[in-house]
Amino acid sequence: MSETINPDQQPESNQSGIGFATQANSGGSPQIQNLIDASLGRPTPSADTTNDAADQSSPVDVQLYPSIIYASYDFQNQNKYKIVWRGSPNFWSGRDGQTPVAICDHIMQGSLEASDGWFKNRRSDVSSHFGVGQDGRIWQWVKAEDTAWANGILQSPDTSLDWLAECVRRNINPNSRTISIEHEGYSGKAFPDAQYQATLWLHRYLCQNYNIQPDRHHIIGHYQITARDRAGCPGNTFPWDKLINDLGSAGAVVQPPVVTPPSNGTDWTQGVTGVVKMQFGPAAITSNNSFVRSRPSLTAGDGTLVRTLNKGTVLHFSGYTDVGPEFRGESRWYLITEADGGGWIHSLMIA
Ligand SMILES: [Zn+2]
Repeated sequence: MSETINPDQQPESNQSGIGFATQANSGGSPQIQNLIDASLGRPTPSADTTNDAADQSSPVDVQLYPSIIYASYDFQNQNKYKIVWRGSPNFWSGRDGQTPVAICDHIMQGSLEASDGWFKNRRSDVSSHFGVGQDGRIWQWVKAEDTAWANGILQSPDTSLDWLAECVRRNINPNSRTISIEHEGYSGKAFPDAQYQATLWLHRYLCQNYNIQPDRHHIIGHYQITARDRAGCPGNTFPWDKLINDLGSAGAVVQPPVVTPPSNGTDWTQGVTGVVKMQFGPAAITSNNSFVRSRPSLTAGDGTLVRTLNKGTVLHFSGYTDVGPEFRGESRWYLITEADGGGWIHSLMIA
């Protein structure tokens, strides 16, 4: 929706300190605002998960520009899924001497955002390695090398699975031998194709990278570990046959994922006023040599330049401020998500 005026004719370095800028429209859309409000994951009284209020951003005055759609995979190249790092405090470092031999599939009984709030809550004592949204987003909370807290309770486990029978026999926590994938939605409901394709891709990627056999002995449901309390996880609509069949199909090549790194601990919001925290994106950089700064700044020599990005670079964001230094009438700056490297970029650099 933004109009770019001869971006390549602009000087690539200038005294503004923001890199070259384009003319951009920035009208908010109330319709889309509703959409993103719904996806913010704020706790609601009816939610069956208990998000930690401290994890939630307080301001709700959220504007969304029409070109910024909430999704985390590359719509231009849908085969190349992006795994967005979210992080959770609920895990054990390492795998207690075990290696992952199976994938355990789950259903969230809710939204990706609600699960995110739950997994980030220290008091919930639960997490998952991955979660797949109904729109194909893939989020990650625990490194595959570490042990997520997803399916540790043995209740009438399916001991026809050799590796699980051994867990019972040798008192091995099944979490240490499994990679967990949660799925947005509800038990017994249909899996949208975008979600199916994303989880198929993720299963394929994990099978190839961790040498997991793509069969029903090694791709299992939570109900096979915790039979009584999780009988409906992931539910009777989970596409087991299709998944195993598609995983086994010849010629399936997995493109390497764009795995986003965990946060390096930089607090990009420190000293920045008016920060509204929210997740949105992707959006593309509109010109070459766009400056990313450690805080909103127009000054060329103040040491805030973190890196430069070229036209077409796709970014996701975790917030913005409307009281940054003004450039060409615009004072909005976007906070680039940690997963995309962090830092601040002026709004005129973004389509
Ligand atoms: Zn489950």
